[in-house]
Amino acid sequence: MENRNPKPDPEKGRLSPEEIRELAAAAVRDIPERVKKWAAVMGITYGRITIRNQKSRWASCSTLGNLNFNCLMMLMPETIRDYLVVHELCHRKEMNHSKRFWAEVEAVIPDYRACEKWLKTNGESIMGRMW
Ligand SMILES: [Zn+2]
Repeated sequence: MENRNPKPDPEKGRLSPEEIRELAAAAVRDIPERVKKWAAVMGITYGRITIRNQKSRWASCSTLGNLNFNCLMMLMPETIRDYLVVHELCHRKEMNHSKRFWAEVEAVIPDYRACEKWLKTNGESIMGRMW
């Protein structure tokens, strides 16, 4: 699959308000479609989807099934965005990070460990561009 998103560059400085607005607008177009696709594949329901501009976390899932995603995800490759979506949808089955949770993730994304590694390596520099 072609990935038209630029690789995150730690040398790049803080995002301007305009850039953040653009990322949020792109996320509103991208993320709900991605959630819809994976939820259908996984047979999982969910509630509201909110796109946030935040410096603290990539995504979260409430007990009601409402999903939050960080607009900075648009600076990541699509495979990582897919992983984060699947991760949150798996919390609809397991609201924890137990072995059973990771087994659910692995069933959908067998190489999820590579995605976790990518986030550990690159996540901080992307998060650092938000202010
Ligand atoms: Zn989680």
